[in-house]
Amino acid sequence: MNVNIAATTVENYRKLRDAGIGTYILFQETYHKESYEKLHPTGPKHNYCYHTEAMDRAMQGGIDDVGLGVLFGLELYRYEFAGLLMHAEHLEAAFGVGPHTISVPRIKRADDIDPNVFDNGIDDDTFAKIVACIRIAVPYTGMIISTRESKSVRERLLHLGISQISGASKTSVGGYAEEEPEDEKSEQFDVSDNRTLDEVVRWLMEQGYIPSFCTACYREGRTGDRFMSLCKSGQIQNCCQPNALMTLKEYLMDYASPKTREVGERLIENEMKNVASDKVRAIATERLIKIEQGERDFRF
Ligand code: SF4
Repeated sequence: MNVNIAATTVENYRKLRDAGIGTYILFQETYHKESYEKLHPTGPKHNYCYHTEAMDRAMQGGIDDVGLGVLFGLELYRYEFAGLLMHAEHLEAAFGVGPHTISVPRIKRADDIDPNVFDNGIDDDTFAKIVACIRIAVPYTGMIISTRESKSVRERLLHLGISQISGASKTSVGGYAEEEPEDEKSEQFDVSDNRTLDEVVRWLMEQGYIPSFCTACYREGRTGDRFMSLCKSGQIQNCCQPNALMTLKEYLMDYASPKTREVGERLIENEMKNVASDKVRAIATERLIKIEQGERDFRF
């Protein structure tokens, strides 16, 4: 389970670590101190330094997977981009572990935000360049794009380095528990991609990607510097690929529509041929059969 809460104390981060969370995510909003303070004139988020040093405290509290993000559009994007990379560099230098993920939200219309009043908004081409440059500069990190972006923008950015996308997101508080009537909705932002998870999964497969539901690294304790070294050397893909195929198989069995299942079964059959190790392929093949027979939760 990933947790996204406001900046807090080392003790509170330790409690989250003890509870066994996956990644702790906190967006910076803007790295520009003056703008930050102007946007948060009062309230618990007002203190720029306390907010900006949250990841340091999280690491001191023992959380070794943290997720960064900046809200592009609040300030000049070059400043934010440099701030984001410097933040990643700092975490690596100070703790030996860079960001597990980087999110790239950008200002969009919401109940109380009109993007037209922020004149630092970035167009799709600039946004694409930013994503590509982050991918090159921080090659080991997972990059997240939300349903705020349209299907076509998400498709373009997937090719440039995005590795995690959401599907069927709800952005109102409690939105997953019960549907609010349209006129009472108070959403954090508008969702531009309204497809169901099943549609998103099928779309990814039709683009040639393997949608993976794998969380094996957390479950196996492969986090922090252990994860970083496997990731930087590329060895992690020996786990990722079979894990992706096995978790996809579970999804297909338990949740997918018949059409998605058909596309997925074909993809799994083809992709199994690309598993480099004969031994891993043989074990994964056996496990795929077991998943079909009702067993679950296999991982490398
Ligand atoms: S094995 Fe790969 S896909 Fe699975 S959690 Fe680890 S890095 Fe992610």
